Amino acid sequence: MPKKGKKMVHKLIILGSGPAGLTAGIYAARGKLSPLIIEGNKPGGQLTTTTYVENWPGEKKILGIELMEKIKKHAEHYGTTFLSDSVIKADLSKKPYTLTTEGGKTLSAESIIIATGASHKKLKAKGEDEYWGKGVTTCATCDAPFYQDKEVVIAGGGNTAVTEAAFLTRFAKKITIIQILDKLSANDPIRDEVEKDPKIEIILNSAIKEIKGDGKKINVVVIENQKTKESKTIPTSGVFVAIGFKPNTDIFKDQLDMDEFGYLKIIDHTKTSKEGIFTAGDVSDYKYMQAVTSSGFGCMAALDCETYLQKQKKS
Ligand SMILES: Cc1cc2nc3c(=O)[nH]c(=O)nc-3n(C[C@H](O)[C@H](O)[C@H](O)COP(=O)(O)OP(=O)(O)OC[C@H]3O[C@@H](n4cnc5c(N)ncnc54)[C@H](O)[C@@H]3O)c2cc1C
Repeated sequence: MPKKGKKMVHKLIILGSGPAGLTAGIYAARGKLSPLIIEGNKPGGQLTTTTYVENWPGEKKILGIELMEKIKKHAEHYGTTFLSDSVIKADLSKKPYTLTTEGGKTLSAESIIIATGASHKKLKAKGEDEYWGKGVTTCATCDAPFYQDKEVVIAGGGNTAVTEAAFLTRFAKKITIIQILDKLSANDPIRDEVEKDPKIEIILNSAIKEIKGDGKKINVVVIENQKTKESKTIPTSGVFVAIGFKPNTDIFKDQLDMDEFGYLKIIDHTKTSKEGIFTAGDVSDYKYMQAVTSSGFGCMAALDCETYLQKQKKS
């Protein structure tokens, strides 16, 4: 239990209830750290926004939401407690660290694991929200097999877009890249392959304005040329949005080291630039961005935190 007295100090507070936060919860609870998870405004994290997950070990095919409920129950079983709230302010200037929530709570912790994930930048196209997870996706590694012999479009022209396009050529029969600029902005060497691939068409100076379907699946996207303002309809079964991510780190600005895009800097494995503050998952990993890698990262953060708290106890 957290120390009681004048002020309750939690041994560990975990921010985020995606695969990283929940796995950290399982390990920390089994390590007797009595973790509290603050769930945030997306309980269960990004996987709750998709339909089926086919790459979680031990589950051939499972709904994202069902998988996350199972992991939450696992964490609860070993004693993790949950707070349905979001952190809006963090004071990491002195120990114990202080977190303020949207619901008006002020919480103190000896250590923190930040597993707040990253948000995908959206197209802001009509129909995008309606078909999010039902044809609109952000992850070719996750969803490409669903588009075997189908036509898909990719929004974006940077490194993520060309990498996703190259990956999708193994599955889709046609891939159309819709890039808002007048050239691909990718500098990855894979760009040359993509430009030459007969399966890939690149449409420049254009933006997706609308995603249309029958309510269950996508049929077409409407694109608009930014120069001529002409509209065109492209048949497609899927829309891969690859226009960038924003890590959810605003509340730690000027308190923790971050890279130019706002991803938390890792000093050693899961340690951030401040003692007792650890990180896990997409909030600091822009390379792998998978549920299973985030989960593994959460395990590492909990183990590192356990070691840290043990050392603190001895000193
Ligand atoms: C449509 C889609 C399909 C995908 N499909 C797959 C797939 O099939 N397989 C796969 O491996 N990966 C898939 N992914 C990627 C995978 O979902 C992510 O890599 C993974 O969820 C990252 O886990 P995370 O725990 O780091 O962060 P997230 O899942 O993003 O969770 C972040 C958590 O932090 C919380 N949070 C944010 N801000 C605060 C705050 N201020 N205070 C408290 N809490 C906060 C949120 O509420 C959320 O619970 C998919 C992603 C998307 C979007």
